[in-house]
Amino acid sequence: MRETRLDLSTRATGTIRGVACAVASATLVFFSALSACSSDTPTAPNDEGTGGSTTFATTHFDFRLYDGLVRADVDAVVTRLEGEHRRIVDDLEVPSMPRARVEIWSNEASFYAAMLDTVGTVYVGAKGYVLGPTGLRLVMLGDPPQTAVHEFAHVVTLNINRGFANNPRWLWEAVAVYEAEEFVEPASLPYMRPGSFPTLQQLDVSFDQGHWIYQVGYVLTAYIVEIWGMDTVIALIRAHGDIHGILGITVAEFEQGWHAWLAREYF
Ligand SMILES: [Zn+2]
Repeated sequence: MRETRLDLSTRATGTIRGVACAVASATLVFFSALSACSSDTPTAPNDEGTGGSTTFATTHFDFRLYDGLVRADVDAVVTRLEGEHRRIVDDLEVPSMPRARVEIWSNEASFYAAMLDTVGTVYVGAKGYVLGPTGLRLVMLGDPPQTAVHEFAHVVTLNINRGFANNPRWLWEAVAVYEAEEFVEPASLPYMRPGSFPTLQQLDVSFDQGHWIYQVGYVLTAYIVEIWGMDTVIALIRAHGDIHGILGITVAEFEQGWHAWLAREYF
């Protein structure tokens, strides 16, 4: 019996599409599965074929550990998630955040095997992904506490708009990067130069095509927060990034404003 069932009806295309994401250093890589967890049915401990699992609950999360992991192995993840939970939920103004399930593997091969089983494909390099508005998965590689917070930020946004995952991708990642405080100094990025800052369309490309959104997502969200406020970020999440509908300006005008702000603030 599988513990996670994917609700394909949440996808207009009827397919699951996952998009991996990475930050500038490439030391942190995330994957976001575009799907919904439709079942919280308890399962037998051996269902992943990894020799059993360990479960425990904290104030806001239900953990399930595989590959022989015990709670002490993931203490840093627990501490960081519980420590950031209130800030992110309050920031995004989610009035009743459900408990979230956090599944963690230590072995990359079994993490990928579960990914293949659940998502239908393997994204090599992925260190974490989300499963709808109440679930996230991690492997204990890279910087697991940071991965956990990034993925949890995605999970919180799915409690604002269930259809928000990668829709649009630039805002989906920009908000998670901002809430996970993954700031990258713009002047440190070769392509970030006054006169040639990226457009939203360029930031919206798939993981295979580019990783810029992980590097500039923080300063993109920060701009919206500074000019319009967090309520507008939340309105944009609800409206799938409809700049014109929410801000009353064109995308080109938005980009001009952001680019001028970047030049002022960071160059
Ligand atoms: Zn992400």
